[in-house]
Amino acid sequence: MNFLPLIEAKREGKTLAPEQIQEFIHEFTAGKIPDYQMAAMLMAIYFRGLDTAETTALTLAMRDSGDVLEFPRDKRPLVDKHSTGGIGDKVSLPLAPLLACLGFRVPMISGRGLGITGGTLDKLDSIPGFKTLLSAEQIVAQVQKVGCVICGQTDTMVPADKKIYALRDASGTVPSIPLIVASILSKKLAESLDALILDVKFGCAAFMQTKADARKLAKAMVALGNECGTNTRAILTDMNTPLGRAAGNWLEVKESVECLEGKGPGDLLELVIDSTAYLLVQTCKAKSLTAARKLAEDGLNSGEPRKKWDEMIVAQGADLKAFNEKLRLDSTAPVTTELMSAKSGFISKCDARVIGEVIRDLGGGRLTKESAINYDVGIDRIAKPGERVEKSVALCRVHAANTAQAEVATTRLKMAFEISARLPVAARLVHETIL
Ligand code: URA
Repeated sequence: MNFLPLIEAKREGKTLAPEQIQEFIHEFTAGKIPDYQMAAMLMAIYFRGLDTAETTALTLAMRDSGDVLEFPRDKRPLVDKHSTGGIGDKVSLPLAPLLACLGFRVPMISGRGLGITGGTLDKLDSIPGFKTLLSAEQIVAQVQKVGCVICGQTDTMVPADKKIYALRDASGTVPSIPLIVASILSKKLAESLDALILDVKFGCAAFMQTKADARKLAKAMVALGNECGTNTRAILTDMNTPLGRAAGNWLEVKESVECLEGKGPGDLLELVIDSTAYLLVQTCKAKSLTAARKLAEDGLNSGEPRKKWDEMIVAQGADLKAFNEKLRLDSTAPVTTELMSAKSGFISKCDARVIGEVIRDLGGGRLTKESAINYDVGIDRIAKPGERVEKSVALCRVHAANTAQAEVATTRLKMAFEISARLPVAARLVHETIL
């Protein structure tokens, strides 16, 4: 195809026809459009934007660039959740088995972490024997049998996104709402979902730092998801403070299991219950959010999702005996140290960005896509805003590979906490719902 006129048209702010978008995505995926021309198009889109019809065409063309999961007809709705990511965000782990126990099918295709943001697959990789790479046939078979799967994208799913994302990363065109929307939704739509809940985070450790930007992204994704035939809603949630009391790959798996066992923590539980409740309403399994929350809480308290978790991880190759032995350990890292409070008072700030940066530098995150990860390092027992602490009591505990790294981390973590004499105003976790 002659791609240049399309780049020029977008550069001049013109609207592209859906067929033109479909064609260039097809040609680019097939290697028939050079990277430099696609990078120019991405920059034109970055500055000129895409309207709803163009974004829909781009999303569907990207979805159709590879395999779309095909499930047998079944009365259990196909659902998933996507989070834009944050520190300690482990919601997917308890959510998938809970949803499966409530009569859903959950083909949860997840990603890896980069920078300070953790990735669901990295967390799961800390489970002995667990496999995240499954074929499309294996994904469908497990969803049909177990009800849920959490795994990585296959090589043949949404190849256009992989190629385009790499170019966006190298050409400064990641922060474009239509490109983000198409990237996220093309992958979710390839799961053939009936309903999708989006957790769009805002705050110092979020992809979108302000609530206004998060709202803009959420509105665009909700409109497009619904336009493409998937019942889609979004919640805007606070990511100034880490979610839960633990961050770091293995520590988050451990906390997820605790959540499935009814041991909290409260904020993680709130997001798991809320995400479930929205999906129950979206699929008409509950009449109101209040009724749906009750169903979700009863489901979690039944203990069945904890058993479903074991079933899911065993189906994906986990060594259950080794997993249970690992769960019993207080720490799997060589060194642990505590950060002590310098004074008494109320926690008024627990900065998720600082905590994320410290964990990344302990080896728990990636600086580049190729970096290896240390699954055992992280931070737990995190004191949260509103809690009373006394002088010389631990604000958090660091799990590190060696003493030197533990000491550096503990020193840096002093910056994450602020303690005030007065009880701070309680921060909400879920701020808005976008329908
Ligand atoms: N996550 C994605 O998958 N794609 C984006 O463009 C941004 C975040």
